[in-house]
Amino acid sequence: MTRLLLIGPPGSGKGTQAVRLSQACAVPAISTGDIFRSNVEKGTELGVKAAEFMNAGKYVPDSLTNDLVRSRLNDADVEGGFLLDGYPRTEAQVDELDDILAATGHPLDVVVLLTADTDEIVTRLLKRAGEQGRADDTEDVIRHRLEVYAEQTAPLIDIYSKRGLVVEVDGLGSVDDVTERITSALDARGITLLAS
Ligand code: ADP
Repeated sequence: MTRLLLIGPPGSGKGTQAVRLSQACAVPAISTGDIFRSNVEKGTELGVKAAEFMNAGKYVPDSLTNDLVRSRLNDADVEGGFLLDGYPRTEAQVDELDDILAATGHPLDVVVLLTADTDEIVTRLLKRAGEQGRADDTEDVIRHRLEVYAEQTAPLIDIYSKRGLVVEVDGLGSVDDVTERITSALDARGITLLAS
């Protein structure tokens, strides 16, 4: 019954760790970035709207993002918990999530903050651009995404820290090392994990 958020700058390894952590915690991983990308690929109405913002390194407007998450969090498979990767990213999204969770009576258990320095992030994202060709992984767009993160998402760390929910984990090092750091930190907080 774990409800967790994964917050970190673009390129901090959130997506990779989200998949592993959702397995370790036996809860579904919900990545707003993945949901938007799959809508873009399928050419849905949401995808057409979202692509314009994503390709420019901007956030998709809160109204669209909040509706998407509200509907996903009403699905039966998240009743036993969830891992949100990449949501909330703005204060308005924090308010929305609070509202959604208040209605269920189940508060968040923990917010994992994955850190990584800017030079490392730009290197990782440019490498990913070469491998995966994501439209938002060009150098200019990457820099813009980092600015947007600093302006709009970094302030959320303070909000959740004041609630005593934040566990900060260094995102540098091998994927296994980072997973190990996160699972030890969760274990130390008494969060139930499946044996790996
Ligand atoms: P990253 O964080 O590495 O840039 P994501 O896959 O998490 O990659 O997100 C890709 C893009 O999807 C973001 O740059 C943004 O345009 C959009 N997006 C994802 N989550 C949100 C959100 N919570 N609010 C607004 N836009 C979002």
